[in-house]
Amino acid sequence: MRTLRDLGDVGGKRVLVRVDFNVPLQNGAVSDDTRIRAALPTIEELRSKGARIVLVSHLGRPKDRDPSLSLAPVAERLGELIGAPVKLAPGVVGDGVRGAVDELGDGEVLLLENVRYEPGETKNDPDLARALASLVDAYVDDAFGAAHRAHASTEGVARLLDRRAAGLLLEREVSTLQGVLEDPGRPLVSVLGGAKVSDKIAVIERFLELADTILIGGAMAFPFLAARGHTVGDSLCSEQDVELARRILATESSRARIADLLDLVIGDSFGADAEVRTIDGVDVPDGWMGLDIGPRTAEAYGRVIAEAGTVFWNGPMGAFELEPFAAGTRAVAEAVASAPGVTVVGGGDSAAALQQFGLADEVTHLSTGGGATLELIEGKELPGVEALA
Ligand code: ADP
Ligand code: MG
Repeated sequence: MRTLRDLGDVGGKRVLVRVDFNVPLQNGAVSDDTRIRAALPTIEELRSKGARIVLVSHLGRPKDRDPSLSLAPVAERLGELIGAPVKLAPGVVGDGVRGAVDELGDGEVLLLENVRYEPGETKNDPDLARALASLVDAYVDDAFGAAHRAHASTEGVARLLDRRAAGLLLEREVSTLQGVLEDPGRPLVSVLGGAKVSDKIAVIERFLELADTILIGGAMAFPFLAARGHTVGDSLCSEQDVELARRILATESSRARIADLLDLVIGDSFGADAEVRTIDGVDVPDGWMGLDIGPRTAEAYGRVIAEAGTVFWNGPMGAFELEPFAAGTRAVAEAVASAPGVTVVGGGDSAAALQQFGLADEVTHLSTGGGATLELIEGKELPGVEALA
C-alpha cells in the first residue's frame, strides 16, 4: 500500500482527499465531530506541504440532492478545527466545482458537496471517477470506513491517478488491524457481541483460528446457548443463527477456547422500563429476554482481558443504550480501557459505548470502520485499499 511518504512533493499540487465525514447532524450542525478530527493529521500534513486540498466525502444516503444532507455544516466545523476557512464547492463535479478548485491557493482547503448527490458514486461510474480525477494531480484515500466499498470516489478514482496514496488514518487502521491478525501479543482475546450474528459469523470463524480465548456477549450469546441446549426465552435468536453456532461449536481444528457465560440480566421486554432480573445461570425463562451478561460473567471476562497481550473487541455485551442493561458493556469497556495489553476496538455501537462511558481515549486504537473493520478481519480484500497498491 502506498502511503503519503510515497506521494512525492505535493507543494502547489491539487490533491483529492477521500475522507469519511459521514457524521451525525442535529439541527443543522455536526453533533459528533470524531470522524472529522480523525482526518486532521492527513489534512494538516498536506497543508503544511503546501498542497491544494480538495476533500470529498459522502454523508448519509441522500435521495437526489437532499439539502438536509449537504456537507455545509461539516465545512464549517472543519474550518473551526483547522483555524482556516474551508470553502464548500457548489457540487461534486462540473464547471462551478472546477472554478473553485482553480481558485485554491497553496495550503487551502475546498470541500466538495456530498458525493452521493451523484448517482454514479455508489455504482462506481467511470464517468464520475474520470470527472473527479480530472480536477486534481494526486489522490489520497483516508476514508477507512468506506474502504470496503468500490465506489467512484474510492476505488474508481484511485485507479485513474498514478500519484495515489493512503492517508495517515487509513494507513494506521490497516496496519493496526493487520498487526492483530498477523503478529498479536499473546494471549489474543477476542470479545465479540452485538446483535448481528450472521454478519459476524465469518469474524468468529477467523478468531477461532487466531485467538486464544473468545468472549461472547450481546445477542450473539443466545444462538450459542441454544446450540448447547439452554432455553433462550424471547431473546434475540434465530434458528438460522443457532445452526451457525452449532457449526462453530463443532469446529474441531480451532485454536481458541470459547469462554462460558455464567449469568445473565434478563428483562420482560426491550425497554428502559422493563422488569429486570439477574439470573445465576444461563437458562432464560419463557416470556423473558436476555439483555445483558450478568455480573459474574462480566468479572470473569474482565480477568481474561486483564491478562491478554492483545484484545480485539467488537459488539456490545448487552442492550447498553438502556441503563438497566448497560452494566456488562460498561464493565467490559472498563476492563479493556485498563488492560495493559494492546487494545483495539471496532464497530459503530462499540465505539459509541466507549464514548458514552468516557473511555474512548483509553484504548490503543478505536477503529473508525464498522463494515470495513469486520471485512478486513474476515480476510477479505478491501477494494479501496487494493486500489492503493
Ligand atoms: P457494532 O456496531 O459495535 O458492530 P452491533 O451493531 O452488532 O455492534 O450491535 C449493537 C446492538 O446490539 C446495540 O444496539 C445493542 O442494543 C444490541 N444488543 C446487544 N445485546 C443485545 C441483546 N442481548 N438483545 C438485544 N439486543 C442487543
Ligand atoms: Mg452497529
